Amino acid sequence: MTELLALTPEELAELLGGTGRARAVWRAMLQGKDPFEDPGLSRPVRARLRAQTFPTPFFVERRDIAVCGTTKLRLVLAGKKRIETVLIPSKRRTTVCVSTQSGCARGCVFCLTATMGLERGLTAGEIVGQVLLAMREAHLPAIRNVVFMGMGEPLDNLDAVRKSVAVLCDPSGLALGPTHITLSTVGTTPAAILATRDLPVQLAWSLHAVDDALRRRLVPTMRHSTESLRQAFVDRLSESGGSLFVEMTLMDGVNDALHHADELIEFLAPFSPSVRVNLLPMNAGREGLHASPEPRVKAFRQRLRDRGLFCTIRRPRGVEARAACGQLAIG
Ligand code: SF4
Repeated sequence: MTELLALTPEELAELLGGTGRARAVWRAMLQGKDPFEDPGLSRPVRARLRAQTFPTPFFVERRDIAVCGTTKLRLVLAGKKRIETVLIPSKRRTTVCVSTQSGCARGCVFCLTATMGLERGLTAGEIVGQVLLAMREAHLPAIRNVVFMGMGEPLDNLDAVRKSVAVLCDPSGLALGPTHITLSTVGTTPAAILATRDLPVQLAWSLHAVDDALRRRLVPTMRHSTESLRQAFVDRLSESGGSLFVEMTLMDGVNDALHHADELIEFLAPFSPSVRVNLLPMNAGREGLHASPEPRVKAFRQRLRDRGLFCTIRRPRGVEARAACGQLAIG
């Protein structure tokens, strides 16, 4: 038995004996129907589905909606594991922030998910299912972007992530453009970074600090130097093209001084001009750490811009629903 949502339309076509059948199943799922019960599908198709595949079991336990429309869904998965998925609407499109693990083993000091520890990695079907579910939230604009930035470190669950990307991008499946999918990672190891070469997605490196000692304080499980990780990102980009997003969660008095900005400018030189820096003032959650004050974040940005780097400040979305970056956790 195989998880239905983990099958690419091509694999499903093989299993059902025809691409038309696979397309019909996906059409039904995109319309919010249960393909195991949908009378619009032929009896033999439903019988084969039941005999050879199973649905991804999850349900929405809770919905938190912030005034800006950002919606956090708490989902219960098989084994009673819980995750959170965040839907971030803008005028014309919605971005879905998916989880790749229940909890996370990486231990970032500014992140609430870290306090859960790792419960388990999600299956490809559980990752795809989050996007499918988001597509059914009818009050939101169409889903255009998927970011792997929810709970978990995607490179610690790479096989499932790879499979889910294949399903998300398949024209007969969810048909998302690869440039509309962003995978955010702390950059676990050089080998794991290079293993993403065949993944047609944008990469975002959650760097937070250039200096190794400081970075190990912020991401305590980090065993590799920023220099060795940078080399892996350079190699990966030189082969697959595209640009790199670099994310800096700025914390008051920790990593937000101008000398940190200067270190970053020098460090990112090998990527120039294919790098974009996102500054994220830390969101409330962990005790003892605070967001950088706005003037300091702006000064940091200006320093980078003065040296020709593309840099933006990411405004937090959904803070009051505890749906913003670093705030996902099942307490
Ligand atoms: S920031 Fe990401 S990698 Fe770090 S603990 Fe949180 S979920 Fe894990």
